[in-house]
Amino acid sequence: MAEVICVRCGATVPAARADIVGTGYRCDTCSVQAEVSEGVDAVTDHIDPAARQRLASQGKQKFFAAVAMAATVLAIPSVVGYAVGGPLFALFGGVLGLYGGGQVIGTASETYYAQWKRYGKVPQLPAARLRKR
Ligand SMILES: [Zn+2]
Repeated sequence: MAEVICVRCGATVPAARADIVGTGYRCDTCSVQAEVSEGVDAVTDHIDPAARQRLASQGKQKFFAAVAMAATVLAIPSVVGYAVGGPLFALFGGVLGLYGGGQVIGTASETYYAQWKRYGKVPQLPAARLRKR
């Protein structure tokens, strides 16, 4: 009988007990684990490593772009405030900028940072074992 190597755990299993995913064969134990963990890992197994790497670096780039933007959003209101009305306006602008910058960072970490981390590596799966009958 043909045997295949699981892309996730490296075990050699009969082909009949393996699923075909985007990156190769995956043993039934790993498939069950992937399904149990909210389907997120089930998806990453279907994306080939090169595409996964591309998605990860895209997320990384966008995240740092968002951080730079947040810094700008943070700084501009206080600079403008200072120019318009002096230190008190600068303080008010700073508070406004803090809020705006926080919003940008919050959104970026939920989307781009999550994308970077998700595709950057294959996430650890919770330990589980199939019971043989
Ligand atoms: Zn496996």
